[in-house]
Amino acid sequence: MKIETIAIHAGNHVDPVSKSVIQPIVMSTTFERNAEGGYDSGYIYSRSANPNRTALETVLAQLENGVEAAAFSSGNAAGMSVFQALEPGTHIICPDDMYHGLRNQLKALFNGILEFDFIDVNDEQVLNQHIKSNTGLIWIETPSNPLLKITDIKKVVSIAREKNIKVVCDNTFATPVCQQPLTLGADLVMHSTTKYFGGHSDLMGGALITAEKSEFWDKIRNVQTMGGAIPSPMDCYYLTRSIKTLPYRVKGHVNNALLMTNFLASHPEVEAVMYPGLSSHPQHDIARQQMSGFGAMFSFTLKGGEAKARKVINSLEIFTQATSLGGVESLIEHRASVEGPDTKTPFNLLRVSIGLEHIDDLIADMEQALAAV
Ligand SMILES: *Cc1c(COP(=O)(O)O)cnc(C)c1O
Repeated sequence: MKIETIAIHAGNHVDPVSKSVIQPIVMSTTFERNAEGGYDSGYIYSRSANPNRTALETVLAQLENGVEAAAFSSGNAAGMSVFQALEPGTHIICPDDMYHGLRNQLKALFNGILEFDFIDVNDEQVLNQHIKSNTGLIWIETPSNPLLKITDIKKVVSIAREKNIKVVCDNTFATPVCQQPLTLGADLVMHSTTKYFGGHSDLMGGALITAEKSEFWDKIRNVQTMGGAIPSPMDCYYLTRSIKTLPYRVKGHVNNALLMTNFLASHPEVEAVMYPGLSSHPQHDIARQQMSGFGAMFSFTLKGGEAKARKVINSLEIFTQATSLGGVESLIEHRASVEGPDTKTPFNLLRVSIGLEHIDDLIADMEQALAAV
């Protein structure tokens, strides 16, 4: 089935009791035992499993072409579960521009438990140099945040495979509508479902999807159900509801991103636009090979430096100045100030999550903001 059909039907079933077309929300934390002490429905206690979470995990797994998914209460909880499932002392390789929340998590919570290096994983030589006998995992994130760098997934997988190293891909920016890392050989996909899956900036969630069942996956399941960083039945319901429109929303976001980046690229106040969909992007060819759409996140820098960047951001009327991404409303942020003092992000850079407003209105707003002095 195609992704639009999967998004609507996978995991959902007509309720056998009420015949409701949409699966009801089951708030119960506990489930009745039968006379023999067993559980007829398979559900015992909602930390371990809940019907709405099962529905969500079913659709997530199918969207990413995986065999199973585990849903979490946030993207960071999903990432943490991967790290917690590794043997202490394992060495992991991460991109030097890894999502700052997970980079900070590793440094603050896994120091002394795991070994980690933050490197340019796109440089084959650098990557090979950093692989050690205890390297167990390579983490990739493509397109990356906020410079929209592209990692060649197949290439990293081929290097990792030879040495029995797992590859996890943070696919939050691309979504399975634009990129399916498991079909390119990755072992696990990670998502912050807070972003495009939720799509309306009103819930937090995370997910891991596995290409195959394994001992490592069993450990991740244990971290999920014993650790307990699970989404509520309400959050699972809202997510499955939003996922039904994910393919069409993402197509709309991508179209708007293409049109807006083309506008910005030819504007005299703009220094550079970072978007994998532009032929000027240094890894545009890799993006074309491994993505079926270029996503809807982009950044741009201003010739007038930080002062101009702040002027633009404060002059916009439709765009809201806020962090996060993937919602129907357009957001813009001065990324360097979000990332804190050790940031490598240029101070004249603005990061945009383009929404689903009409592109003519968005371009008109951007045009007036760029003209502000
Ligand atoms: C937001 C985000 C995360 C973290 O997810 P939360 O839901 O905020 O915990 C991880 N990776 C990327 C690329 C993100 O954008």
